Amino acid sequence: MSDPAPQLPAGMDLRTVEVPTPDGVVRGKVGVTSGPMGLTGLVRIACELTDALVARANRLEEEAGRTISCRAGCGACCRHMVPVSAPEAFYLMDLVDCFEPARRRAVIERLDRIVGMLEEHSMIDELLNPQHTDEPVLPIARKYFRLQMACPFLADESCSIHPHRPVACRDYNVTSSTEWCSRPYEHDIAKVLMPLPLSVSLARLTAAVTGDKPCLIPLTLVPRWVGAHGELRTRRWPGLELFDRFLAEVGPQVPSDRTDPGMVPGMAPGTASRSGGSKRRGAR
Ligand code: SF4
Repeated sequence: MSDPAPQLPAGMDLRTVEVPTPDGVVRGKVGVTSGPMGLTGLVRIACELTDALVARANRLEEEAGRTISCRAGCGACCRHMVPVSAPEAFYLMDLVDCFEPARRRAVIERLDRIVGMLEEHSMIDELLNPQHTDEPVLPIARKYFRLQMACPFLADESCSIHPHRPVACRDYNVTSSTEWCSRPYEHDIAKVLMPLPLSVSLARLTAAVTGDKPCLIPLTLVPRWVGAHGELRTRRWPGLELFDRFLAEVGPQVPSDRTDPGMVPGMAPGTASRSGGSKRRGAR
């Protein structure tokens, strides 16, 4: 979010956002399309808001004497199943569609190889409809990580789409050793807790406009999922109305304590972490 107000292009309205969190209210202004807008129009807003929340959460960690370990060139967490909401899925496909042909072909080939491996291990159905257990991490998430398939956007252990990376990638930061992130189920990873998982807000908004159950989609299954949801990809709503509906979904999920809301694809969001064994900030 930016404050004070930026110069806005024609067709954009400046809206004030106030998001209550356990650490206080986050305030800012965002530009919103006033004309017809698709679900992807909310992704930039969710990312800006997430970045503001991450900056605040990381600052609190530093004030508490803990150092954020995440750094460029460490792609250990980029071998997890990354859950994205439908608006982010459409956004990512739009992004890939804009790549120059060789880059696009390379990404699609990497995605195809990963999907082939997931098919070989009969994991696709469970990835889209995960089985719940009493474990904090879904079995399918552990299985996915064991395959050590790098995200198709990972290049030289850095994110090749860093400014466009999904919300789940933005709000995943740790203060424990980066070495541990390569073996997350053997260690208590100290994840910086985020007060609001905005990919979940986007998933809930999508459910509200479609009448379906909220779901998150594994990043590597995005092309397949988007291919099956072409009508939703092209739907448009009045931009300001869609933005207000998104904010309405952000508000009610503010947790009353610092529990980790987690990011699990395919489920009504809310119980597990992207990696195993993450510690609560308040529990360290
Ligand atoms: S999108 Fe980028 S940050 Fe996220 S998993 Fe892929 S390479 Fe890593």
